[in-house]
Amino acid sequence: MSENITGADDLALPGDGTWSDETDWELGDFDVDGDGAGSVPMPVLAIVGRPNVGKSTLVNRILGRREAVVEDIPGVTRDRVSYAASWSGRRFTVVDTGGWEPDAKGLQQAVAAQAELAMRTADAIVLVVDATVGATATDEAVARVLRRSKTPVILAANKVDSERAEAETATLWSLGLGEPQPVSAAHGRGAGDLLDVVLDVLPETPREGTATLGGPRRVALVGKPNVGKSSLLNKLAGEERSVVDNVAGTTVDPVDELVELDGKTWQFVDTAGLRRKVRTASGHEYYASLRTRAALDAAEVAILLIDASEPITEQDLRVLSLIIESGRALVIAFNKWDLVDEDRRYQLDKEIDRELARVPWARRVNISANTGRSVHKLVPALEGALESWDKRVSTGRLNNWLKEVIAATPPPLRGGRQPRVMFATQASVRPPTFVLFTTGFLEAGYRRFLERRLREEFNFDGSPVRINVRVRDKRELRRGKR
Ligand code: GDP
Ligand code: GDP
Repeated sequence: MSENITGADDLALPGDGTWSDETDWELGDFDVDGDGAGSVPMPVLAIVGRPNVGKSTLVNRILGRREAVVEDIPGVTRDRVSYAASWSGRRFTVVDTGGWEPDAKGLQQAVAAQAELAMRTADAIVLVVDATVGATATDEAVARVLRRSKTPVILAANKVDSERAEAETATLWSLGLGEPQPVSAAHGRGAGDLLDVVLDVLPETPREGTATLGGPRRVALVGKPNVGKSSLLNKLAGEERSVVDNVAGTTVDPVDELVELDGKTWQFVDTAGLRRKVRTASGHEYYASLRTRAALDAAEVAILLIDASEPITEQDLRVLSLIIESGRALVIAFNKWDLVDEDRRYQLDKEIDRELARVPWARRVNISANTGRSVHKLVPALEGALESWDKRVSTGRLNNWLKEVIAATPPPLRGGRQPRVMFATQASVRPPTFVLFTTGFLEAGYRRFLERRLREEFNFDGSPVRINVRVRDKRELRRGKR
């Protein structure tokens, strides 16, 4: 039986940005044999520092020629750009945090948050300061954060364009990050030496691979202010905060908290902010969103708290957008359920239909952090979401399924021609990311149809799924026919 998919816009997923057209990937880039490795993971070098110190210039210097190596790494939030680089035969990823720069107010906090993010996600960090200016208050604030870092930090004293200027770098010892490495990103002076020092401390393999093996699963508790995040954390951790301090073989950031739930240890990331209730320069949304991002980046699954007793707001949806961008698994907890009556419940259902249509796959739980109602239901929801997030479908199974679906419901004609889907493969997990190789453009309605069927067949409840379409270009096609 074939399903009518014309005018399929009412199908499950309105455009949520998880589909993208990819024209520049080669099959060889992906893990087609399904061993979970993906393309070889590379260690990550993060370049941090305040605006105008020369971060972008340094990144370009490291890359040699920008155009040649620019590479969009899937799964990376859009304001940060990752590039593949190599030096002395070693390959690594450079993350340019330049795109993060806020306006002057809140600068110090923003740059510090950027450094915190780098501490959690990178394998080595270069802090760039402008040697011609010396250490500013912002530089000092960032250095303070980075001094706590378990991730190795290298201090680059930039704009040292001549040997004479090198003397000026001595004052930068005061930042407490060891020897300043003089460099001129603009002219290349000292860049090789800097990279040698970087490679000395950069591990061969990225931390992600080891951090996720066997350690506690990492959860970010996110939501706008006053939804009950700290109340929930207190409830989960127990009144006496029965926090496990040392779990063998794990390194836990001081800002994280280990909480035992149903006999299993979970790592709630970036809870220091919740505990301390840092009320930063009031209403500084930008900073709040940086914190949320940092927490999401460090986590594998997010619990989005929504105050069920109040209408869903723009601010809730902004946090949701950050979660979608992050590609993390998601459980939505409707909190303050003790305040929800029949009327409110009816309204809420309507709001959910309207506002949360982007994430029909999210797991939902109604809880009360105050009374403890249904809080225990969070654990199976988290586990299910992570299972989906980790799931890998073998290439064989995927293609057999796809063949059947397409035979029953072929893609609509475009310009009188029928696009063919030739082959599909799951390129990566966390979140599950698929690549379809086609002979032509697939309409949005049909893509959504495929995603819905994929979800039905393989059950990705609680996890986003990314599907990239790679259209073979005409030349290749002609070659293929001969
Ligand atoms: P970012 O904001 O930290 O990414 O800084 P940019 O890379 O955009 O550089 C800021 C300014 O500093 C630009 O005008 C660069 O040309 C200049 N600059 C960067 N590196 C050097 C350097 O090594 N020497 C000198 N003299 N200027 C530099
Ligand atoms: P946070 O800003 O997200 O960390 O929110 P808090 O945990 O500080 O909670 C904000 C307010 O909501 C506090 O007054 C809490 O007592 C209240 N609150 C939190 N959870 C619940 C709940 O489940 N029911 C009710 N009635 N109030 C709650």
